[in-house]
Amino acid sequence: MDHKIKITRTHKSRISEVDFNNIPFGKVFADHMFIADFDGQQWKNFEIRPLERIPLHPATMAWHYGQGIFEGMKASITDDGTPLLFRPYDHAERLNVSAHRMCMPEFPTDLFVDALCQLVALDKDWIPKGEDCALYIRPVMMATDEFVGVRSSDTYKLMIMNLPSGPYYNKPVSLLVEEKYVRAVDGGVGEAKAAGNYGAALYPTKLAKDKGYDQVMWMDAHEFKYVQEVGTMNIFFVLNDVVLTPNLSGTILQGITRDSIITLLKEKGYKVEERPVSMEEIYDAYTKKQLVEVFGAGTAAVVANVNRIGYKNHELLFDKSQWELSTMLKNEINGIRKGRIVDTHGWILPINVEQEVTV
Ligand SMILES: *Cc1c(COP(=O)(O)O)cnc(C)c1O
Repeated sequence: MDHKIKITRTHKSRISEVDFNNIPFGKVFADHMFIADFDGQQWKNFEIRPLERIPLHPATMAWHYGQGIFEGMKASITDDGTPLLFRPYDHAERLNVSAHRMCMPEFPTDLFVDALCQLVALDKDWIPKGEDCALYIRPVMMATDEFVGVRSSDTYKLMIMNLPSGPYYNKPVSLLVEEKYVRAVDGGVGEAKAAGNYGAALYPTKLAKDKGYDQVMWMDAHEFKYVQEVGTMNIFFVLNDVVLTPNLSGTILQGITRDSIITLLKEKGYKVEERPVSMEEIYDAYTKKQLVEVFGAGTAAVVANVNRIGYKNHELLFDKSQWELSTMLKNEINGIRKGRIVDTHGWILPINVEQEVTV
């Protein structure tokens, strides 16, 4: 596809206002944004410009009828200063899986990756250099028709913004097995990174927090028997020498971190099973002292250790001294992300800053 991205650089970088040793997650935005419009027929007006508010009509359809999807990915920087994107093509494809399910236009994969390269090249100085730090990239697509009435919008905007981020979830998380509310059902939108999924999760998450847990562990909607995932992470259980994770059944998000972890584990000779995982099986293994480690996997945290699970009237407790596999995986993925461990999977896309920034 032939496309040209118009670039307007900021005249006044905000970077000196930021304390890179203490970056609150989700609040600090880099200087630039990418923005494009879908006019009902095609994507156009590809632009990178200083991050700013966009004016929207109160009848903007995304708010009323929920056509809103997003992605979350990371850029990092090598010790010698080359920015790297982690699995950008996989994120581009998953954005389109979400778009398809929500009746929204797909965005050309090559253009998406090109936009990322140019945007990250411009915001290169915003990529934190510390351990466990990265530039979190948030693409979002929304319906923009000004119309009241349920139908699919004709027009959309895609925007991409960058957020420098420090270590996320560096403390372990506690989970409450949810036995009343559900996140996703067969045939629903659980596989899409659709905004509504997160809105729907807030109330049960609040109830879990009131009970002293950080996150909800979602179960299947039929029997509340099989584990789906937690918050915005996929979940892994280490039982003796086998690693279990729920299979992709259409009700869980196809995590790219999940896929990276499965790939790395198999390569290193671990036995990984992707299959329905029942909470009964997990509890049984726990009582027999076979359940060694539990961790969540997602772009933001990479790996988040679980220290406690509330299940019916039981409390499953996990000890830090056992967190070997999760630590290894986190180091491995972060090592690949920093260019310190050789990427043998084609996950890393280095950005040639001189070539990208021509304006
Ligand atoms: C984004 C997300 C994940 C993790 O996906 P990654 O590609 O690994 O970041 C898992 N579950 C949900 C519900 C998510 O939104």
